[in-house]
Amino acid sequence: MEKTLYIVRCGEVALKGMNKPYFERILIERVRKAIKDFDGAEAKWIEGLMFVRVSAAVPEDDVIGKCVRVFGVASVSPAIETGKDIDEIGEVAAKFMSKITEKEGIKTFKVKGKRADKSYKIQSPEIGRIVGGIILKECKELSVDVHKPDCTLVVDVRREGTYIFTDKVRGVGGLPLGTNGRGMVLMSGGIDSPVAAFMMAKRGMTIEAVHFHSYPYTSQRAQKKVEDIVKVLAGYMGTIKMHVINILPIQEQIVQNCPEDENTLLVRRFMMRIAEKIAEKNKGMMLITGENLGQVASQTAEALVVTDSVVNMPVMRPLIAMDKVEIMDKAAEIGTYEISIQPYEDCCTVFLPKHPVTKPKLERIERSEEALDINALVEAAVLSEEIIEIRP
Ligand code: ATP
Ligand code: MG
Repeated sequence: MEKTLYIVRCGEVALKGMNKPYFERILIERVRKAIKDFDGAEAKWIEGLMFVRVSAAVPEDDVIGKCVRVFGVASVSPAIETGKDIDEIGEVAAKFMSKITEKEGIKTFKVKGKRADKSYKIQSPEIGRIVGGIILKECKELSVDVHKPDCTLVVDVRREGTYIFTDKVRGVGGLPLGTNGRGMVLMSGGIDSPVAAFMMAKRGMTIEAVHFHSYPYTSQRAQKKVEDIVKVLAGYMGTIKMHVINILPIQEQIVQNCPEDENTLLVRRFMMRIAEKIAEKNKGMMLITGENLGQVASQTAEALVVTDSVVNMPVMRPLIAMDKVEIMDKAAEIGTYEISIQPYEDCCTVFLPKHPVTKPKLERIERSEEALDINALVEAAVLSEEIIEIRP
């Protein structure tokens, strides 16, 4: 089977010192999983670069699209390989260039020679000059521009052969998934929480989600929207386990027994308690929310202190200091934005107070909660959970 080669570079994994073999092993597992459905797919490490090969029949964009979504991947280049004879390298490079010229209409180029194999007799600048000369001879329409070329061709002479490639497509970066614990994200249908989950997963954290709804006040369609969002995330992270909980019984108790202006905050405190319990049951060690300083009444500094104080687990808020536009850009980049802005109701909007407290006092909130049987409510909610596995 004829195969095409792709070179995959890792970013920070390369900096991990003693733990590098561990990170490399996990990263290659992730890449193998991402490409497993392609004909003839294989991946292996050779001296700090990952070499991915798949059947030549598989479209380039498909392979690149899968690889760049793997956390830990810094960039991907389609490449070709050849031997180490300099004339042969030149011929192969010229063919490669003429193919690209045809496809992308480039006019100028430069060749960057590299010599990882220090025993190779020709030095890097010389490799560039010789190969550049051969390309000029074969591709008459091209000229060299060393300052601002349309295309830079890299010729990398390594121990086991020579690799020729041009463009690098940027990967998501970060660290391989599964190298940094497990977190439970509180996932609404909004713009923020999916971005928060993505950012933590990008640092290697395995993610599970918990979603609260208020059925029948919120619709099935609203939950489907959340599932659609999580499905996009699963494209980066693999299957995601989502715990779904009806928080309506708790909301009703709060509405009946507590001051209206504290409603949102009291519900939020229950969400945190329940999420912590579910995280504990599932080996989670942190909670993750899409909260952001000052964005809404329930996210003032005072409100966040009050929210935090009900749980012992660390609460990660990766968006805390970002501006809304930055978060929206990030959501668009990840691919969740368009789904998040669909207008379906969220449980938080069901009993929205007209004038929510913005500077809550913990003692007052705790006093309000004395009217509720907190443990029983949390217990019942946890017991009622429904689990959905969301596949990419
Ligand atoms: P988002 O865009 O993530 O919904 P938001 O700016 O709308 O955030 P809030 O509605 O105040 O903010 O929610 C703050 C955080 O609380 C969310 O980012 C999410 O982590 C959590 N949260 C809110 N509603 C839910 C829900 N229905 N299920 C699970 N978590 C929720
Ligand atoms: Mg929301």
